[in-house]
Amino acid sequence: MTSEQRVVVIGGGLAGLRLAQRLGPVAAVTVLGEESRVPYNRVLLAEVLAGRYAPEVTALPAPGPVLRRGVRAVRIDRAERAVHCDDGTVAPYDTLVLATGSNAVLPPLRGLFEPGGRELPDGVHAFRTMDDCLALSATVRPGVRAVVIGGGLLGVSAARALAARGAAVVLAQQGERLMERHLDADASALLAMHLTGLGVEIHTECRVRGLVTTGTPAAAPAAPGTRQGADAPRRVTHVELADGYRLEADVVVLACGVRPRTGLAEAAGLEVRTGIVVDDHLRTGDPHVHAVGDCAEHAGRVYGLAGAALEQADALAAMLAGTPSPYTGTRALTRLTLGGAGSGHLDLAAFGETTPRPGDDVVRLADATRRTYRKVVLRGDRLVGGVLLGELSTVGALARTWEGGEAPHDLFHLLTDDGGH
Ligand SMILES: Cc1cc2nc3c(=O)[nH]c(=O)nc-3n(C[C@H](O)[C@H](O)[C@H](O)COP(=O)(O)OP(=O)(O)OC[C@H]3O[C@@H](n4cnc5c(N)ncnc54)[C@H](O)[C@@H]3O)c2cc1C
Repeated sequence: MTSEQRVVVIGGGLAGLRLAQRLGPVAAVTVLGEESRVPYNRVLLAEVLAGRYAPEVTALPAPGPVLRRGVRAVRIDRAERAVHCDDGTVAPYDTLVLATGSNAVLPPLRGLFEPGGRELPDGVHAFRTMDDCLALSATVRPGVRAVVIGGGLLGVSAARALAARGAAVVLAQQGERLMERHLDADASALLAMHLTGLGVEIHTECRVRGLVTTGTPAAAPAAPGTRQGADAPRRVTHVELADGYRLEADVVVLACGVRPRTGLAEAAGLEVRTGIVVDDHLRTGDPHVHAVGDCAEHAGRVYGLAGAALEQADALAAMLAGTPSPYTGTRALTRLTLGGAGSGHLDLAAFGETTPRPGDDVVRLADATRRTYRKVVLRGDRLVGGVLLGELSTVGALARTWEGGEAPHDLFHLLTDDGGH
């Protein structure tokens, strides 16, 4: 690659900007980013919602003029090697990188949309962008009744943040336990205990059926100076569960997972399964088009995690710069800090396989008083997974052993001490 080579990156998020930063010295990079805000790190949004960080704190390193903010790519012309944008401009490329991230999944709830409409009722928010976060934040005050739908990483972060702002929070989780993709049953139970201690009411195996809203034409007469009837905005009043029970709600957070943004790739005829399919060179079926981050599917896997997005961006930058180092997958560590003072604070980390297969060995250290829990899963002499809650001083050493595929030589030391690192 030479400095005349034109690299166009679609998506000014974590992966796209990291790639641009790494490639800057060796190529003419343009990043198209539909969000008009200063680029930010999504991982920190829960801290903004909790009021612990100002939005500015989440800013990603300034990308300079290579980023065209507020410009959305609307079509890829692979024959012409050009990207068409919503402002009418066309960006020609030698290499195109899709770093379009993912969208929040909006669940099929009765009452979520009006027939033919795409507007969420007032009070109902997804939790993916800074705009979502600030709109949600503006509605939260002490005593507000908030229902979080979804008990994964996003739902848990949102519930914790809303409780920190004094909201009365109910978390409705369809699955059997919280963060079931990342945590084993014991760790999940400890996490639930922590959230309950912060005042969050948790309902597991709880399916939400629909939303009840006001603002329909049959609503009660409006107070002078307010709108009513067909013009009145719909506002959520209740969340309806599968058994018909209705939870009162001023605010609803939809935290039902994310879906890779693949529309542009699909329309351009690139292979899409769950994400945009890429090989070990993070390349699609078109040798001029690559994909990285949440939108990419490598070896059947879409990660949806910041660590993988950054690792893929770094790997692609190295490959485009001429260093042949194929990407073979990310050993993704999930880390979550549920911030707060004293007992209101909980750190957790999980990696690899946290639920053992038959024949695996499990070593578990639990301290109910200090609410700490550490567990590792061993297959033969290899560490294949682990989960730590409350006490993370050993996570670095454990994760390095796991990443390196090494046999831990002093497991007890590794679990109870940082192994000298
Ligand atoms: C609230 C929250 C908490 C999270 N917490 C954690 C965590 O604790 N740990 C963790 O590992 N991960 C976490 N994640 C996930 C992490 O943020 C993502 O994995 C990471 O941001 C992926 O980076 P990305 O660049 O692929 O996508 P994104 O950061 O989503 O960036 C994609 C960008 O592309 C833009 N875009 C899309 N289509 C177009 C287009 N057509 N034209 C122009 N621009 C376009 C989007 O607007 C967006 O700005 C969290 C996510 C959220 C929302």
